[in-house]
Amino acid sequence: MSGAALPSITGRVYDIKRFAVHDGPGIRTVVFLKGCPLRCAWCHNPEGMSAVPELSFTMQKCVGCGDCVRACPNGVHALPEVGVHTIDRTRCTLCGACVEACIPGALRIYGREVTVEELLEEVLADRPFYEQSGGGVTLSGGEPLSQPAFAAAFLHACKTAGLHTALDTSGAVPWSAFAAVLPDTDLVLYDVKHIDREAHRTWTGLDNVRILDNLQRLGRAGIPVEVRIPCLPGVNDGLVLERIAAFLREIPSLTEVRLLPYHDFARSKYTAIGLPDTMPQVEKPGPEAMAVLRAVMVRHGLRVAE
Ligand code: SF4
Ligand code: SF4
Repeated sequence: MSGAALPSITGRVYDIKRFAVHDGPGIRTVVFLKGCPLRCAWCHNPEGMSAVPELSFTMQKCVGCGDCVRACPNGVHALPEVGVHTIDRTRCTLCGACVEACIPGALRIYGREVTVEELLEEVLADRPFYEQSGGGVTLSGGEPLSQPAFAAAFLHACKTAGLHTALDTSGAVPWSAFAAVLPDTDLVLYDVKHIDREAHRTWTGLDNVRILDNLQRLGRAGIPVEVRIPCLPGVNDGLVLERIAAFLREIPSLTEVRLLPYHDFARSKYTAIGLPDTMPQVEKPGPEAMAVLRAVMVRHGLRVAE
């Protein structure tokens, strides 16, 4: 395709998920941009938090061959004894040599620069699936609007190409970032994690004032919004969820609420990128607990996604 009209701006992408079915209507390609202003204790994508690229090492995939030790020009990797692999991240320049050398795929760098044209070409590869299913492209993160100019340019390119677009956002960004993308966004997927200002700060690192304000603005502007709530027992159930439901009832453009049961599958990702594991030690809510949460939403007159 011709890239003549597309801007040369680059964005930092850490993952692309094809054939997604829970991130907007139909079959979708989800593009994950790097960087997020929040630090949710339960984040499922900790590799998306930092704005800069990161080296990931998965011990379970490592066969101890030592190819990375020989490939690295900076002495980052060491295998001092069988079953032990140490990494001195302070010396890593993210050159990628060890990733290339690692045949089992234990090493990976999260975060690559792409142009709008390159990314558009990747997502257009699945256009037939979008057309058959009513799907499209979802821009996610991290927080996709933490790269506001790139997000706006990419969504505009998708719309120009005739694709349905969804934006999966934490809402923790200036309204100006929303204003730039809304003309090219068909649906906003919006996270609401807690209704109490200080509890929100405790669990995510920031209060929720801007997040709730932006959601109300989207509602007043008539932008279709699906709200997503990560459900953590003892954190945002009970009266907290009642208050969230009461708040959502006043958002006129709300399409539905999606309740996402907490799980800790991402726990190993924290270790892989050298972060402390912050995931709460709470049980995944089972079907009965989720039914109770759904009932709260329904009682407030809200539509709950299956
Ligand atoms: S190259 Fe890969 S498998 Fe081999 S020691 Fe390094 S990380 Fe492990
Ligand atoms: S990315 Fe480059 S500098 Fe970093 S550990 Fe791998 S080979 Fe060494």
